[in-house]
Amino acid sequence: MKKRTFVVFFSILLSVFCLGGFVACPPAAADYDPLVSWNEGTTKDTIVNFVEEVTNPNSCNYVPPRGRIVTIDNDGTLWTEKPLIQGEFIKSRLGNGLSDLKTLGFLTEKEVVLADLELPEMTPEDYKQEAREFLDTQNHPYLGFPYIQLTFQPMVELVNYLRSNDFKVYICSGGGTDFIRSFAEDAYGIPPENIIGSTTQTEYIDPEEDGTYVLLKKRELVQPFNDKAGKPVGIDRYIGKKPIMAVGNSSGDLQMLDYTDDDQGPALMMLLHHNDPRECPYAEEAGIDCPYDDPVFDEANERGWTVISMQEDFVTVFGEEIDQAQIASELDISKEDFGTVSGEEIDQAQTASELDISKEDFWDRIIQEVTR
Ligand SMILES: [Mg+2]
Repeated sequence: MKKRTFVVFFSILLSVFCLGGFVACPPAAADYDPLVSWNEGTTKDTIVNFVEEVTNPNSCNYVPPRGRIVTIDNDGTLWTEKPLIQGEFIKSRLGNGLSDLKTLGFLTEKEVVLADLELPEMTPEDYKQEAREFLDTQNHPYLGFPYIQLTFQPMVELVNYLRSNDFKVYICSGGGTDFIRSFAEDAYGIPPENIIGSTTQTEYIDPEEDGTYVLLKKRELVQPFNDKAGKPVGIDRYIGKKPIMAVGNSSGDLQMLDYTDDDQGPALMMLLHHNDPRECPYAEEAGIDCPYDDPVFDEANERGWTVISMQEDFVTVFGEEIDQAQIASELDISKEDFGTVSGEEIDQAQTASELDISKEDFWDRIIQEVTR
């Protein structure tokens, strides 16, 4: 039997056996679910239908790969934000001598970024190394796992699903660019060049005047702050194209979603709703304000944007190990375990800090920035 004839014969034979169930065939591609941590339902269907539509060359909604831009918020969208993890990092770096920063984790994203400017000037590389070491070694105050593990597993799957369909996935965050760059490639597969965040000025200098030049992060914020109306500005500045998909979780994302929803072609706008006790089981007791009542969800309902229900759409939030530990902890965790998280202690720390502020202009500066 000639080689080619044998190959054809063998192929037919294999097909017959497979159809008859005699041979264990490899699973068909259709069996693979890239969004396995998403429950079946409207939200998952919306995502899959959108991706299939814009990647189908025969569809009137086809978008070539160069136009498949998606921008995703980070804090509260890709990982937990209660408390803001960058704020916890800054607290750890500034040390115990700064009593005014005890409650920093409960400040807004903008306040955290401004506090970041209180850190000593350093190179971006040193900053990222220190941030990454913090994320790898320090535990979340009540979830009890290192911060680096507190990414939302279904959202990581979503990022991978989009990237595998030739979407260019960007993070667009109010958080610090270098802080996010320290972990995003490992955590989400999103490389440093795809991070759009709040940025400090940098300068290329020779600090020792010995011909050794370095980039140095300055204590000055590049305007605008990359939140709310700053997000479309940052997207235009660093990408130069409009997204066809945007995902956020709060009013800080409203303008990014509005910018994406331009009626110029296919677009998917999504908001993650934090309604899941697997993430914030002690919200009320701990004084942690899960954003149940953010008005952006009214806007989403009016405009037909997709709301992701963490409770209904996520099979798991952080992954089974952390979810199970969290459920177990609900049974016997004491209020003392929260440290400074309780409302009364926050108030006391706040009052003390106002009397004994170690950096005279710290709060003034924050207030000025936030109210202007
Ligand atoms: Mg957010």
